[in-house]
Order: sequence, then C-alpha cells, then structure tokens
Amino acid sequence: MSIRPIAAVVLLGTALLAPPAARARIPDGNAAAVDIGSASLGQRGLLAFRVSAKEPWSPASLEPRGGLRLCLQLFRGRLASPRREVCVRSRPGGTGMKLVSYALDASGKVLSRTYVPASFVRGRQTSVLARFLPSDARVRSGKWRWVAASRAPDENCAPPAQPPCEDRFPSDGVGSITVRTPRPRGCTAVGSPYRLNGPRGRNQIALTFDDGPGPYTSSILRVLGRFDVKATFFVLGDRIAGRQGMLRRILREGHELANHSWNHAILAAGGSGAYNQIRRTNAVIRSATGFTPCLFRAPYGAVSWSLVAEARRAHLATIEWDVDPRDWATPGAGTIFARVVGSARGGSIVVMHDGGGPRRQTAQAVAAIIKRLRVRGYEPVTVSQLLGFKQLYR
Ligand code: ZN
Repeated sequence: MSIRPIAAVVLLGTALLAPPAARARIPDGNAAAVDIGSASLGQRGLLAFRVSAKEPWSPASLEPRGGLRLCLQLFRGRLASPRREVCVRSRPGGTGMKLVSYALDASGKVLSRTYVPASFVRGRQTSVLARFLPSDARVRSGKWRWVAASRAPDENCAPPAQPPCEDRFPSDGVGSITVRTPRPRGCTAVGSPYRLNGPRGRNQIALTFDDGPGPYTSSILRVLGRFDVKATFFVLGDRIAGRQGMLRRILREGHELANHSWNHAILAAGGSGAYNQIRRTNAVIRSATGFTPCLFRAPYGAVSWSLVAEARRAHLATIEWDVDPRDWATPGAGTIFARVVGSARGGSIVVMHDGGGPRRQTAQAVAAIIKRLRVRGYEPVTVSQLLGFKQLYR
C-alpha cells in the first residue's frame, strides 16, 4: 500500500536554485510553456502524475485546442529521446482534460497514439493530477526514467519570437520509477443497486458465467484468452475450497470476480440469512485473491427488494441479465449461440454457466458468440466496466 518513492523530489532543491527564466508574458495567458514548479510520478495501483505550475494555466489552452503541450516523457535506457509521452490534452468544446499516450521512435517521431482512460484533479488553477492504469497508457512494468515537459504552441516558438518555449521538471535531471502491474482489489458499485443490463447507447456487452469455479472454468478461460475478451464470473462460496488458484487466475487474466451466494440457496426472503451468505462468500473470495467483489447475483435469479437491500448493505449491486440462452439445460452449442446472438444488443448482460453441470456446450458456443458479436461491432467487457463502476487497485 505504500506509495513508491519519488526520486525527482530530491531534485526539487536544484530546480528551486536555478535562476528564474525570463518569461515574457504573452497576452493570451497560456501561449507560453507551462512554468513547471514541481512534478511527481508515483504509483499506488494506478500511476499518479502530478504537475504544479508557478502560474495559472487553463486546460483549454492545451493541445489540440490551444496548442500548448504538457506531457510526461518516459525514457528507457539512454536519454536521447523519450520512448513514450503521456500528454494531458484539452477536450473539444469544454474545459475538461483527456490523456493520450504516444509511442515514439528514436528520432522522436510518433509511431502510434492511444487514448488513456484517466481521472483528473485540478488544484487552484495551477496543478493537475492525472491517475491512470499503466497498461492503458502502454507503459510496461519495469524501470523508467521520466521528465515532466511543457512546450508552447509551435507558432509562438518560431524565430524570431522567443517566449519561454519549453520548460521541464526536473530542470537538470530525471525522475525514476519502477512501474509494476497493479493488482485489482475491488470495485465500487454506484447508482441503482439492481440492474438487468447496462447503458443501451454503447456497443458494449457483458458475458457472465455462474455457478463456478468448476471443472469447466479453465476451458472457458482458454476461449476468452484466445480472443482477449474479459468476462465476469459469479462464483459460489462453497465451491472455492481447493480452487483458490483458479480464482486468482480469473483475476490475473483480467476478468472480474463476483458473488453468487455461498451455496446457491434461494435467498429471496432476504434478511440476515441472505446477508450472511453474501458476506461469507465475499470474505472467502477476498482471502483467496485479495479482491472484494461489488456485484451479487441471486441464485436462480430469485430477487426481492429485501434481498437487493441486503446485498446493498454488504456494498454489492444486484446484477441480473437480459439475455439467457438457458445453457444449463444443455440445448446444444448451436442453440446457445443462436439464442445469445439473437437477442444480445448494446448494454446486454448475458448469463451463462461455467459450473453446476456439464458445460462443454457453453465453452464451445462462447468462441462463436464472441466472433459474431465482434462482427456486429460489439465489445465484450466486464459487468463493472459496462456499468461504469470504479475499479480499485493496489
Ligand atoms: Zn446459479
């Protein structure tokens, strides 16, 4: 849980001793480079990049709108040119910010760019803190050196004009960080505590698997892995003993773990019996993996408001489905496929099973389902991603 030491902080003194650069203010306040007073790069699950300027700057002045660059440059090996730049940019039409990661070649030419999901905290018009997953920014695990860099819009830097074109922190050195792969530790349910599906406007669909872990879980995982698809596994507490490694594998491969009660009893009566089943299952999942689910699915889909309330008391949202191929009745892989693709649409939650009986047909159907959904432009995601629930990492 500790924040990684931030080497650049020790260099702060040097930066403060440097004579202040002559900074001719350009009428439009942010036409010159951001005058960086300090910067830090740390990791607490997510990477946290913070830049503090000596004077106010506006997100609207950032590229692409205003042309001002504000980037985290990441170096590996020699410092001739950065390998990667993660830049804060303005959002079209608003004051918001977004993050874009660029891969660069040795000469600094941009090879590719990727939008990075990130959260931002603005402080007193002078600072910004961006938090993001290293993998989303294509920043691999391992040692990196870094610099926070700002550059004025190109037109303001062309000779003979000489505004402060560039600034960097540390001004005469580099920071260093060892980036590691964050491990998920939970999620936070927000909004309605009872869901049958996600937002319809998007092209995302959640595939879910109930009643595991069991003998067929690994064959489902193999298929999902082949297509690099992330799914959600609603597991039963009393099936976990002896299969803790399978739960860890589910998480490690990027899927989501969720709670399907302790022993698949009908819990619609709610009350403390239901609450205890939910709590006990979450405790076993947590002790096996370090991850605490925020999703609950009622056995048999037998839901009541009292059960939803008990789940909510345990900090879980109750998740049902809008697409059910009834794969548990083993109707044949072709039928499972046809039923899913026949009714899935944007925002759908599809219920299938990796446990509770012979699941070979389900495993066979999943590959064809994924291929067809992708042809139609849908991307399978976890339920938390579909519903926009916050992911927690350590
Ligand atoms: Zn079930």
